[in-house]
Amino acid sequence: MSKTIIVSNRLPLQVKIENDNLEITPSVGGLATGMKSVHSEGDGIWIGWSGLTEEELDESLKKKVEQEVKKEKCATVPLTQEDLEHYYFGFSNRTLWPLFHYFMEYTEFEKDYWDSYVTVNKKFAEVVLKHAEKGDTIWVHDYQLLLLPGLIRESMPDISIGFFLHIPFPSYEIFRTFPWREEVLTGMLGADLLGFHTYDYERHFLSSIKRILRLDVNFNEIIYKDRVVKVDSFPMGIDYNKFHKAAKENMDRLPAERSDLQQRIDDHFMKDKEAKLILSIDRMDYTKGIPNRIRAFEYFLNKYPEFKQKVRLVMLAVPSRSNVPQYQLLKKETDELVGRINGQFATVSWTPIWYFYRSLPFDNLIDLYTSADVALITPVRDGMNLVAKEYIATRVKKDGVLILSEMAGAAKEMNEALLINPNNFEAMADTLKQALEMPVKEQKKRNTMLQKRLRRYSIDKWAAEFFKALKATQNLGQVIV
Ligand code: UDP
Repeated sequence: MSKTIIVSNRLPLQVKIENDNLEITPSVGGLATGMKSVHSEGDGIWIGWSGLTEEELDESLKKKVEQEVKKEKCATVPLTQEDLEHYYFGFSNRTLWPLFHYFMEYTEFEKDYWDSYVTVNKKFAEVVLKHAEKGDTIWVHDYQLLLLPGLIRESMPDISIGFFLHIPFPSYEIFRTFPWREEVLTGMLGADLLGFHTYDYERHFLSSIKRILRLDVNFNEIIYKDRVVKVDSFPMGIDYNKFHKAAKENMDRLPAERSDLQQRIDDHFMKDKEAKLILSIDRMDYTKGIPNRIRAFEYFLNKYPEFKQKVRLVMLAVPSRSNVPQYQLLKKETDELVGRINGQFATVSWTPIWYFYRSLPFDNLIDLYTSADVALITPVRDGMNLVAKEYIATRVKKDGVLILSEMAGAAKEMNEALLINPNNFEAMADTLKQALEMPVKEQKKRNTMLQKRLRRYSIDKWAAEFFKALKATQNLGQVIV
């Protein structure tokens, strides 16, 4: 029987060694949830890195890891410490990530990183080919594995391959600066179906295909080496019901059952019924526009001083890639900005910014989402942004206002949010005022529409739609003269 093989950089598992024993916990992230039905069907298997390098494992532990992950229908790709440094922290995070997010000044074009990227993509291909059989379907995920579709195709010309890019695809003028542009494009063209979050990313990709590879593009189909490669957009959704249900339970909780965090927030509102909470949640990443947001908040407090003492920005920044220099600089800049603004504006009873540099458990995230009057999500560039969608899903009473950057892929489906340009402080300050003063009736009207759309296009639907489109490419047949 044919099966589905999912491939991503990391397996959807946390593997830990505790006193020579292995502890394996399945992860509950969005992608794992979306893939659940695809993965659990038949002999489906997920291939990726376990999170432990070869240097951390002796022979017996390696066997154990393989046995244990197999029980979860997974198989590992062995990566060394050097692979991790050059392929992952190097090429993936210092070349592709900044380039694809329009941060050219942060992009490093290092030949050593590229060589390692090729080597590691080949390692992934080797493991995939060990498991793949005629008739199987392979779904490859994200920017760490752009060469993988092509590498699989070389050995298995007839197998069905889908690829989904979870970050933006940049415009041609950015992409053309990339030294390995032909190799990456031809690697991607190994797939039968290429999926992007938005129509714009799809358009940018097709433009690079036409101008760099000079291939014929017919609407959203590319003819490449006698095959048809289909390109389409599939905006990724969230597990809507999970967030909505958790928010409902949270609101039904008795005061004594509430978390410490929730109690502190409740105290804040007890003191002043007029008080408003503004929330931002993101990884500490330079694409997320964190310093911009803080500066805009400062600008807002100066422009509209009547909101002093009344509003509080709760900012959760989750540590990320902290061994990459730009991330360390960003952390320093953020710490300083928060310190300066709190120093400047705070009174004995009011601190304008509550800043958490950590990740929080799911229940606390729900506490934050359900307590926030406004979500202020201001990335300077973001493939999708799921936080924006999660905030809306948790608004059980349909109140609350989402302010969202136009530069987030999510903005394309969330027109009822207040959309802003994250570089325009004036507009951000005015929009924040508009959000804080928006009549509840209008909030509900906007959120009703947003919720309806998010509920309909949830994460499992996203996976099902992609899969359906991939299956449909099999009927296109071997082309065409
Ligand atoms: N998130 C989390 N723990 C935290 C804060 C956030 O697991 O402490 C989750 C959040 O619920 C969301 C994801 O991290 O699902 C962030 O996804 P998004 O698309 O917004 O940004 P990314 O980090 O993928 O760039």
